[in-house]
Amino acid sequence: MAETHSNATAAQSRPTMSMFAPHQASTASSSTTPKEDDSSKANLPKGVVLDKDGKPCRLCTSAASWRTMTKQASQSQSQSQPQETQPKPSTAIPKSIATAASTVPTTTSTPRSDCPPDVDALGRSTWTFLHSLAASYPEKASAEQQTEMSSFMKIFSRIYPCWVCADDFQKWMAEPSGRNKPRLSGRSDFGNWLCDAHNEVNRKLGKKEFDCRLWEQRWRTGWKDGSCD
Ligand SMILES: Cc1cc2nc3c(=O)[nH]c(=O)nc-3n(C[C@H](O)[C@H](O)[C@H](O)COP(=O)(O)OP(=O)(O)OC[C@H]3O[C@@H](n4cnc5c(N)ncnc54)[C@H](O)[C@@H]3O)c2cc1C
Repeated sequence: MAETHSNATAAQSRPTMSMFAPHQASTASSSTTPKEDDSSKANLPKGVVLDKDGKPCRLCTSAASWRTMTKQASQSQSQSQPQETQPKPSTAIPKSIATAASTVPTTTSTPRSDCPPDVDALGRSTWTFLHSLAASYPEKASAEQQTEMSSFMKIFSRIYPCWVCADDFQKWMAEPSGRNKPRLSGRSDFGNWLCDAHNEVNRKLGKKEFDCRLWEQRWRTGWKDGSCD
């Protein structure tokens, strides 16, 4: 199970850590103790989320925050050139990032479209996949189909690449009353459950909730006015 640590919490500006409920910080176990020195992260820009190894997690961070961090790293690199007379500033960016950033062109007008995904691009693609799963789910699912989907959702919630998102998603699904368990009897059931799950994330991120009566038009049939035909 994914664990968090206080540095990751401090580094965030968006509410990634506790998607569905207040997050239990400082639960790091020895297996997830960051390998980097804590002082190396103290000044990470807001919004940068750390991975379980203590390094910045690109898939958990927005592209904007990532760019701020690499820019900062690149600046601190150039300021720490040997010929410099000023005192060397203490950098908060892990060495690996600073090195990578020093090779990044500084004329960053429009970001390329073929870069690794950030937390938002990963999320959009994943929701497309998940809602499409619901759209193609049988109207009435057999016991076997329900078992398969249940296993898939369990595994999905463990391996989702934004680990802080995955951690919260697992917790939400495992809510003790059982009310957030995947509803899998058929397409409508599953589609509405996914819509509810997505709305939990929307609420946490301060986004507008989606009207779940419309999930099927959005993800399966297209809008009633024919605008998708
Ligand atoms: C399991 C999971 C957990 C996530 N956790 C986090 C997190 O903790 N922190 C974080 O920063 N990001 C998280 N994300 C990503 C986040 O949900 C968004 O994908 C991301 O912020 C981009 O948002 P967006 O506004 O482009 O639209 P998205 O939220 O990606 O939605 C894509 C489209 O889906 C439709 N839609 C919106 N809501 C619903 C709904 N309820 N039902 C059906 N359709 C809908 C809309 O047409 C929307 O344009 C998570 C993603 C997933 C899959």
